[in-house]
Amino acid sequence: MIGLSYIALAVATAAPSVTIVRAARLVDGRGGAVMAPAAVRVEGERITAVAERLDAPAGAKLVDLGAATLLPGFIDLHTHLTDRDGMHWEEALVKTTPGEAAIWGTHNAKLTLESGVTSCRDMGPTWPYVDVDLRNAIAKGVVPGPRMLVAGSYVSSTGGAGDARQFSIFVDVPIVRNLADGPDEIVKAVRTNFKNGADFIKILVTGAVTSKGIGPEQQQYSDQEIQAAVGEAKRWGREVAAHAHGTAGIKAAIRAGVRTIDHGSLLDAEAIQMLKAGRAYYVPTMYVTQTVVSSPIVPEAEKERSRRIDDMAIESFKQALRAGLRIGLATDAPVMPHGQYARELSFRVSLGESPMAAIVSATRVNAEILGWSDRAGTVEAGKWADLVAVPADPLVDIKTLEAVGFVMKGGVVYRDQLSR
Ligand SMILES: [Zn+2]
Repeated sequence: MIGLSYIALAVATAAPSVTIVRAARLVDGRGGAVMAPAAVRVEGERITAVAERLDAPAGAKLVDLGAATLLPGFIDLHTHLTDRDGMHWEEALVKTTPGEAAIWGTHNAKLTLESGVTSCRDMGPTWPYVDVDLRNAIAKGVVPGPRMLVAGSYVSSTGGAGDARQFSIFVDVPIVRNLADGPDEIVKAVRTNFKNGADFIKILVTGAVTSKGIGPEQQQYSDQEIQAAVGEAKRWGREVAAHAHGTAGIKAAIRAGVRTIDHGSLLDAEAIQMLKAGRAYYVPTMYVTQTVVSSPIVPEAEKERSRRIDDMAIESFKQALRAGLRIGLATDAPVMPHGQYARELSFRVSLGESPMAAIVSATRVNAEILGWSDRAGTVEAGKWADLVAVPADPLVDIKTLEAVGFVMKGGVVYRDQLSR
């Protein structure tokens, strides 16, 4: 009998702990009716039940969030967690080290998680591949942070956005070693990224705002070069995210088969039609149109780039809304400060998007874009227990999302200022 009770004990310790989370209402990320009141049963890292009322079984932990609103963990499709606030990336290249970027990355990852972001797609560090190490440390539970998918070292052309050595041609910085011109070099850059641990490819299809060289309106890679990147990534079973502001670059990237058009500042009717018909998603970064022009660290020449396209970027977003386009959600932090994720939603709502649509974009649609519809983006049985709570109803006032008071990622509570 000793053997039997030993087995029973082993089973008992292996059973995941049960937590019941209760709140006044649930906005589950699917875009349908609000559930009020709401209860979510969490076992281990997964959600196992969602209902208006759930009894807490013996031994279960009860988290009563009172008048709060429960939502799925948010997803940010465009972050640079290892880049710190308040320092231009060119300055970081000559005054900081990869170690400093890693340490600041852990700080920013924690801030980001505490703002309700439980998963993010990191669009490239200034020091190549530091994001890979940060992703791995978070995944192992060494430091708190969102689940990360990382770009490693973005793929850029000589003289384009991402060619860091345009401030002095005599300064050697590692990031320029990934510059690639012509299909052959691009294939090599893509392979190098995957070898070094990247999850996906970020390609700079047009110029950028906070950069020198070719302008954001211009396409910096030829159609063939973009196709080479997508073709190679496809062979690895991976996706490509395209940084693209100008219209021609946006269309070339969609035609080449990228997964996302990041920024997408200068859409026209044809580009919107192409996005509607294809598998590429528009992932605007709207709030940064408000932060770059007033930033103390952005040089005047780059503020001028921002002024040239900001109004058109806002107009593109409004056109996309009118067209009923599927829209992803992203911040581009630290172009806006880390930890202020919800400002992107507040700003989009101020441009005419409904609070529900902005929340669905930040959760279910973003999960769809990552290919994670089976595990993230909604509060449903079977999904990761990634839950966020805010003190009031975000459908009445979207700004309440700026006051996240409870964060659970994979069943582990990282922030709780709301439970009673
Ligand atoms: Zn970016």
